[in-house]
Amino acid sequence: MDTKNKIMDIPKTMKAWVLGDPNQLTMIEKPVPEPSSAEVLVRIDAIAVCATDLEIIHRGPPAMIQGGLPFNKNFTPGHEYMGTVVKLGPGVDEFEIGDRVAVEIHAGCGRCERCREGMYTACLNYGKNYGNVNKGHRANGFTTDGGFLEYAINNVNTLVHVPDDMSDEEATLIVTAGTAMYGLDVTAGLIAGQSVVVMGPGPIGLMGVGVAKALGASEVILTGTRDNRLEIGKKLGADYTINVTREDVVAKVKEYTNGGAHYVLECSGAPTAVNDAANMLRRGGRICLAAFPSEPVPIDIAALVRNNIYLYGIRGEGKSATHRAASLMSQKRFPAKLIHTHTFPLEEVPTALKYARERIEDAIKVVVKMRKD
Ligand SMILES: [Zn+2]
Ligand SMILES: [Zn+2]
Repeated sequence: MDTKNKIMDIPKTMKAWVLGDPNQLTMIEKPVPEPSSAEVLVRIDAIAVCATDLEIIHRGPPAMIQGGLPFNKNFTPGHEYMGTVVKLGPGVDEFEIGDRVAVEIHAGCGRCERCREGMYTACLNYGKNYGNVNKGHRANGFTTDGGFLEYAINNVNTLVHVPDDMSDEEATLIVTAGTAMYGLDVTAGLIAGQSVVVMGPGPIGLMGVGVAKALGASEVILTGTRDNRLEIGKKLGADYTINVTREDVVAKVKEYTNGGAHYVLECSGAPTAVNDAANMLRRGGRICLAAFPSEPVPIDIAALVRNNIYLYGIRGEGKSATHRAASLMSQKRFPAKLIHTHTFPLEEVPTALKYARERIEDAIKVVVKMRKD
């Protein structure tokens, strides 16, 4: 293993973007970290910008560094990356130097009640990975250094192999598809032959369409406000799309599903989303909440009770869903790469964030790529 470890030429320091005050990113030199047991060092090759990165850089949560806000703590954000394994920690034989990998965000502590159940994205020791309360929890880009830099540490459990014929850019989308997969898995289980409505054509919603169709859902219906994104949804497998600004979304879903859908994957965060979802489901239907409204919203609880509607909140990409999503993408079951729209080099991370935030040129997934092909 020692000889293997010498194959890759690893520098002592690396370029890294760090968060100062809110909205303030600076590129500095950081030491390249060392992998411990059950960890590897990943050379980052590409990273996608996520709406949650924008939230962290602007407001702080859900990032939590040393028990508090992530500002002025030498913290590097970014979490949807892929790369190449360049160094193995002691005892690691699950991966080899040179393996291309995509990542899950969360390595839970592995010792709490939730981690033991596979719910490591809801680890009870979230953020307890500093100083004398080191529980080994990592959520890169949230509680530990993320991917807007050159090298990152990952627990082996958070890594998934990327096939040779998948581009770096597409591989950054695996974790997004994994989040959609986790939502459908937890909420719905076997959806083959049943109808799924995806509300909101953001990256998770669009991947949700691809995953739902690949898993054999009968009708997959995508709702949203932007026609160009609904069109991409069709290419990813949506049987129907509904533009909520022009059409009665509840009536249309009932029409397309013979009286009401089985499941809703709510990815819009719209204030009316839960009530609309409850109304478009058949009795006994289930709603997966995968987006958050910015304010508390009123919900018609009586309608949920009367109709035996189940509500599920999901957090991230637990239960190895990312591995299963990667498998579907490797099998080319849906063209995930359609949601990648822009690419920038590491030096231009602020521009990449601006494109994502302001949706310049209809940006959906903006990817930062470390080196040219
Ligand atoms: Zn994300
Ligand atoms: Zn845990």
